[in-house]
Amino acid sequence: MCPENQEGAFLIRESESKKGQLSLSVFDGAVVKHYRIRQEAGEGFFLSKKNIFKTLNAFVDHYTNNSDGLCVKLRKPCIKKKVPAPIDLSYKTADQWEIDRNSLKLLKKLGYGQFGEVWEGLWNNTTPVAIKTLKPGSMDPKDFLREAQIMKNLRHPKLIQLYAVCTLEDPIYIITELMRHGSLLEYLQNDAGSEIHLPEQIDMAAQVASGMAYLESQNYIHRDLAARNVLVGEHNVYKVADFGLARVFKVENENVYEAKHETKLPVKWTAPEAIRSNKFSIKSDVWSFGILLFEIITYGKMPYSGMMGYQVIQKLDKGYRIPQPANCPDKLYYIMLECWNAEPKGRPTFETLHWKLEDYDMDSTSYIDANAFVK
Ligand code: AMP
Repeated sequence: MCPENQEGAFLIRESESKKGQLSLSVFDGAVVKHYRIRQEAGEGFFLSKKNIFKTLNAFVDHYTNNSDGLCVKLRKPCIKKKVPAPIDLSYKTADQWEIDRNSLKLLKKLGYGQFGEVWEGLWNNTTPVAIKTLKPGSMDPKDFLREAQIMKNLRHPKLIQLYAVCTLEDPIYIITELMRHGSLLEYLQNDAGSEIHLPEQIDMAAQVASGMAYLESQNYIHRDLAARNVLVGEHNVYKVADFGLARVFKVENENVYEAKHETKLPVKWTAPEAIRSNKFSIKSDVWSFGILLFEIITYGKMPYSGMMGYQVIQKLDKGYRIPQPANCPDKLYYIMLECWNAEPKGRPTFETLHWKLEDYDMDSTSYIDANAFVK
């Protein structure tokens, strides 16, 4: 988003998730909100059936004079960046998404993750991208390509968009959109409560739930949802990254139950049924989302601090759950406990989590009996 764009800047574009349909994106001064413009043959364009417009011009005129349910009134059309962030790197990569690695320039190392290094880079000397370099041998290219085919079609404003890959030689490169502020975990830890407070924390959680609700609707499982796998962009935009990669990543010599370093212990994010019997599902992602809520509210504290993975598993089986953090409102803790229901079916859907967090009322307090969730 260009700095020239002010509140009410808008864009009408083809929908990212539903080809052939139109979406309206509106900048409310802080974040960009997206609406689906519905069309009915012979009738026209509308957001809600009570106002149908014969032309898009009439549609824009109406919402310029009256917000009528939109976050703000429409003002000026969005000014596009000189180098727009593309959905695909070029027309060609829309289908042929294997690109020539020589078209990439690696500029600055951004970090080092489970899979290898991540670089800020430029594609064709013009387009800023993030380049994930995979440690040789960490994945079977065939498995990865199969997964990447699916990942490429997952398009949502709250999911990191996969642009292209370089898989013909090692190291495999995964090219994605660049997120200027890096991982949510570090972002939270660096802030530690100075700028980020409950409304921002709830907004982060709602945005992640929105991306996850989309994955849920596409019957896709993340398998490694955690603050380290959420990225932070400009204007308080949060997006889910690395969905599906855990399935194709070969874990070498790593015992998830007793990994040596507490920091990279995925077991603390993983639902008991997924650890015990490898039953990963969208409901095991919901469990992880509960842990992510804990990370958000505690500014990136380690869950089950001081405990080893095997101890966590034993205690969870006996009904133990992370206690309510000191600054965590009851209502938010109640949502966490719902995510940690021992019975996967008893956990909420991401769609429900999304609206609960979007509609979260900061002022209301509610009493909950945490013991009700202990077996
Ligand atoms: P990962 O391998 O995904 O764990 O990434 C390691 C680190 O690289 C993260 O903690 C981020 O700080 C950074 N990073 C990963 N992906 C991106 C991206 N798309 N944009 C910006 N920074 C990223």
